[in-house]
Amino acid sequence: MRPLYDPLFILGSVTFSDRRTDSDRRAEGAWAARFTDPAGAGAWVQASLPDPALRPCAQVVLAFLRWRAGELVSALDQVMQAEATLRERGNERWLARALSMLAVLAGESGQAERALRLLQEQLELVRRLGDVEMQASAYNDFGVQIGWDDPERALTYYQRAFDLLEEQGVPGGASPYPGIHGIAALNIAEIHLLRGRDAAGEAMTDRGGDLLEQARAWTFWPGYVTLRVKLLSRQGRLDDARELIRDAFARLGEPPRPDGPAGPPLTEPAQLLHAAAAHLEFEAGDPRRALEWLGGLEDWPNVRPELLPEFLDLRARIEAAGGDHAAAYRTARQLLAVTEARHAAERDTQIKQLEVLHRTELAVQQSHEAQRAAQHLREHLRELQALRGQLEKLSSTDDLTGLGNRRQFEQHRAQLEAGDAVLLIDIDHFKRVNDTYGHAAGDVTLQVVARRVRSALRRSDRAYRHGGEEFTVLLRGVGETFLLEVSERIRQAVSAGPVPGPDVTVTVSIGAAILTGVNDAGALERADRALYRAKQQGRDRTCLARPEDAAGPVPG
Ligand code: GH3
Ligand code: MG
Ligand code: MG
Repeated sequence: MRPLYDPLFILGSVTFSDRRTDSDRRAEGAWAARFTDPAGAGAWVQASLPDPALRPCAQVVLAFLRWRAGELVSALDQVMQAEATLRERGNERWLARALSMLAVLAGESGQAERALRLLQEQLELVRRLGDVEMQASAYNDFGVQIGWDDPERALTYYQRAFDLLEEQGVPGGASPYPGIHGIAALNIAEIHLLRGRDAAGEAMTDRGGDLLEQARAWTFWPGYVTLRVKLLSRQGRLDDARELIRDAFARLGEPPRPDGPAGPPLTEPAQLLHAAAAHLEFEAGDPRRALEWLGGLEDWPNVRPELLPEFLDLRARIEAAGGDHAAAYRTARQLLAVTEARHAAERDTQIKQLEVLHRTELAVQQSHEAQRAAQHLREHLRELQALRGQLEKLSSTDDLTGLGNRRQFEQHRAQLEAGDAVLLIDIDHFKRVNDTYGHAAGDVTLQVVARRVRSALRRSDRAYRHGGEEFTVLLRGVGETFLLEVSERIRQAVSAGPVPGPDVTVTVSIGAAILTGVNDAGALERADRALYRAKQQGRDRTCLARPEDAAGPVPG
């Protein structure tokens, strides 16, 4: 038996344990630096991956960094490999960290139940180990998982995380774990603000900002900025809010790029700042400026699946507020596609898990959850479909007259057949109405003419504003005689009496053409030539298209 004071033994043991401590300490440092110095943590990861002893720890840190960069699949890949090895080796401290990452990733791919199970395991482990940071992190993540369904209960978890960390450091001051501490504070603040408890929310926002500043956790800084901007804009302090966003870009070391993504791709924190800025300008009543901030959204790389619907939703609302209904419609369609894809992926994962856990009790719980998820999905889809309906209507209607617009005309015209007909109606000398009575009176006249045209039609026929002072009408199944009759009815209805307001009587010239086949795109051109003739022959009349109208130049 070796005496304990054997100098060689002691030397050997010291050297050995020093080496271990040193590399352990560096691994711990890298874990801590995931907030403060992601680049430094990344360098440690690259250096440590080839070392079999350090590889699983490096993979856990790498998973965190990949997650923050929005690369969920790659993050999941790393941490699943690490989890297996860490379990095998009984490295509980790092296993807890791996579980924490797994839980976050499960949560973000819609598997709340699995996330909660992983967090439960993490919590039991770290309680035993006395790892306060990871305990607080588990509480916080519990809150994140249930926050969607039950914000007030989530709040109690965030608060538990926050209180635990406050006890560790100087209350209201320095914290040993400022990163997770700050995140918990901001999560608390967010719920207070959501519930209209602005004073409590503001205090927590400030505390969260202080802590993230201590941690130099700039990748999380946009979370603070978003809340602060919301408060400042509620207080009408728009310029302070703008200044805060400018300052945040400086902290991130990225220039704001409201005009688009020229330059290197936007990082996730920068994306969040762009969204915060867009939100601010939207609230400030300037949709045009708001849209500039989200203009390049299509070209943003790696937008986290969780964030993309938020960005698209915001943009659709801004576009609708700015009056660009066609763009809002397109964005809403995109939002619908993204949401459907995401829910489909979540459903697929859940179905797969249901198959695996078929006969266990867990399967029962899971099916409740799948039902809830399906319910959420149905509600969400219903909302989106209603929105789509509204936008479809808006984007096919002319604002001024309420008639269908040219877009709708084109859609409907494409469905017509031989024997249906098109009328092109142009107000005579309309420029004079504008010149004599003003543009506003011109607008009123357009509205009255639109109403009179519509009133002269059968239920099966539709009128559209083609643009300017021109209207079109599509008629189902008419012969030449009836076409002339309807056209005359319209012409007389328009000039039957003066337009109230400007008190001016206007007349119209009409060109009419009957379709010779299905989807006869040339019919409108023939109607245009007939209209030209009606104008030349002295206006206030209808001309039917003639066979020779099918050829020749379209009059200007
Ligand atoms: P013509 O009998 O040859 O058709 O003569 P016109 O004066 O009707 O035709 P022209 O094309 O010269 O002028 C059409 C005018 O319609 C010019 C334009 O200012 C006016 N206009 C176009 N859209 C609107 C609108 O939305 N509101 C108002 N108030 N005027 C409009
Ligand atoms: Mg015209
Ligand atoms: Mg005209």
